[in-house]
Amino acid sequence: MRAIERVLPITRNQRVRVLQYLLDSVLACGGPLLVTGVILVFHLHPLIPNITILYLLVVLGLAIMRGRYAAILSAVVAFFSLDYLIVPPLYNLFVYRIEEEIELFTFLIVAMLTGQLAAAMSEREKQAKRQAEQEAQAQAGELSAIFEAMTEGVSVCDARGEIRYTNTAYRSLLALEEDFDPSLLQLDTRLEWLAIRDLEGRLLSKEQYPLLRVLRGERLSGAHSMDVMCCNYKGENIIFSVSGAPIRDATGQVIGGVVVFRDVTRQRHIAEQLQYSEQKLRSLVESNIFGVVVVDIDGRFYEANDRFVQMVGYSKEELLSGAVTWQQLNLPEYQEVTAQAVGAVLSTGAMHPYEKEHLHKDGSRAPILIAGAMIDQERELVLMVILDISERKEIERRKQEFLSMVSHELRTPLTSIMGLIELALMQIELHSRSLPPEAEGLLKQIEKTLKRADGQVEVETRLVEELLEVSRLELHKFELVLQRENLVTIVQETVANQQQAARARQIELVLPPEELVPMLADACRIGQVLTNYLTNALKYAPVDQPVSVCLKVEASSARVSVCDQGPGLTEEQQQRVWERFYQVAAPGQRGPDRDLGLGLAIARAIVEQHQGQVGVQSAPGHGSTFWFTLPIEVSPKECPTDRN
Ligand code: ADP
Repeated sequence: MRAIERVLPITRNQRVRVLQYLLDSVLACGGPLLVTGVILVFHLHPLIPNITILYLLVVLGLAIMRGRYAAILSAVVAFFSLDYLIVPPLYNLFVYRIEEEIELFTFLIVAMLTGQLAAAMSEREKQAKRQAEQEAQAQAGELSAIFEAMTEGVSVCDARGEIRYTNTAYRSLLALEEDFDPSLLQLDTRLEWLAIRDLEGRLLSKEQYPLLRVLRGERLSGAHSMDVMCCNYKGENIIFSVSGAPIRDATGQVIGGVVVFRDVTRQRHIAEQLQYSEQKLRSLVESNIFGVVVVDIDGRFYEANDRFVQMVGYSKEELLSGAVTWQQLNLPEYQEVTAQAVGAVLSTGAMHPYEKEHLHKDGSRAPILIAGAMIDQERELVLMVILDISERKEIERRKQEFLSMVSHELRTPLTSIMGLIELALMQIELHSRSLPPEAEGLLKQIEKTLKRADGQVEVETRLVEELLEVSRLELHKFELVLQRENLVTIVQETVANQQQAARARQIELVLPPEELVPMLADACRIGQVLTNYLTNALKYAPVDQPVSVCLKVEASSARVSVCDQGPGLTEEQQQRVWERFYQVAAPGQRGPDRDLGLGLAIARAIVEQHQGQVGVQSAPGHGSTFWFTLPIEVSPKECPTDRN
């Protein structure tokens, strides 16, 4: 029982095989017997001398159609039916003559070999066919995998243009539902909703449709591929680059076509934008409002517009042939600033605008404003924009002249007004005691008014003085009276003066152990710088908070700093307070003494003219420390301990 249970159930394949064997056996037996029947009925033996040929044909047929088993079995059946029913003595397996015996066996061997050979050949043929089919299937699978992996849409159509195959990208590019079968769409319906247009939006005629061109036998590839605008299923416009090729049969007849289309909408838009910006840049360059050049880091010119040619006096050929380099247009005094600009463009890719002068071919100098940017990192090409600022400089120079003239003109009457007020005050002082009480009261009133007027004149004088300083500042030319000075004394005196002026305030002074900090300086100007720092600190810090002044000696310089507990400054404000006329507070919030926002700019110019540096450390809400450094004089023996 167990053994039976272990026997595997006969599978469908096995059943089919058994049936095939049965069929083969029936055919193998029936075939030769049928031939024998025909021979006997029509008395073909010995009419046909080689009657065995008929059996061989049956064996051959079975070998080809049914295989080896049927062929061999039919050969055996043929042998026996020949021997038994055809070769005398009949109904007996014996034969009279040995030759007949040999003939029969020869037939058997030949039939079996023929059957074997034919079966083998037929088997091989079938196997080759099967293999070819498998290969074709694999190729079809590969092709469809390739099509599915493509981001381009692919459609394969028959000769009438009806869809036979589309890939997934086709459906997604045309915004079709994933499970939608595009082959349901007739050619005309498809063409209607695709509304194929050229890039200017004009509808294409039917002959120009890519698919129809392909079906007419045209190849659309390379330069012949078409860029067209279509609507997808949602009605959105898409630009496709379409290529395609006809499918031909063995006779060369077109039996269909393949169309491949790529969405190039984004590239097109980018190309259009690029073209637009290129156009913008070109028109700007060609407008010749400013000079535009492209130079490499060695100063070789690659491009130069007409305006630049005009600015430097060299011809375009001279510039572009390499006969003239950027360095040749540089003046020695601007070498450092140029090197800085080159360093900036190499490290950050940008050259911020800076002013300098360049050398014209005729040897003259011209002031220019330059800015640039790296446009080709690999070849280190820099595009530079150069603005001729000669006119602006000339206007500035005239403005300076005007300013200094005006301030001089204003100063003279102001000095006389001040002198006259002081004279009037002195006279009041002299005569007030000898007058009756009413007149004395009146004089006191006049004295008060005169003192107020004196205060206003002082403010006015200071403003005029500052105006004068602006012109000096712009030219970077303060007339310095350089003498050997002791910075300790300058700081002490300035702090004492300020303390005198603001008695209610607390000014702390921290001095170094050295009593002598020698240097070559204009004591008045350095005092002016410290005074400006101090007045600002006193102005902006809360009145109940001290302001501290510190003098420190460093390696080769001295550092003076003024620290307050005021509102502090942001990063941007710290950069900008050194600019002329820059004020942090809004104009409406300015103090009664009407500041101009010039103090720090003047301080910086004075310190820089002394080869020193200025700076500020601050943070909003945490006070500020304004500092300046000055180089210490190296031969201390000659320095006086006191300015006086
Ligand atoms: P001003 O004459 O207006 O004081 P300055 O050049 O001396 O001109 O200062 C420029 C601006 O810097 C001022 O308007 C002020 O806003 C700001 N500033 C200067 N010193 C200080 C300070 N110690 N604390 C806060 N802000 C300051």
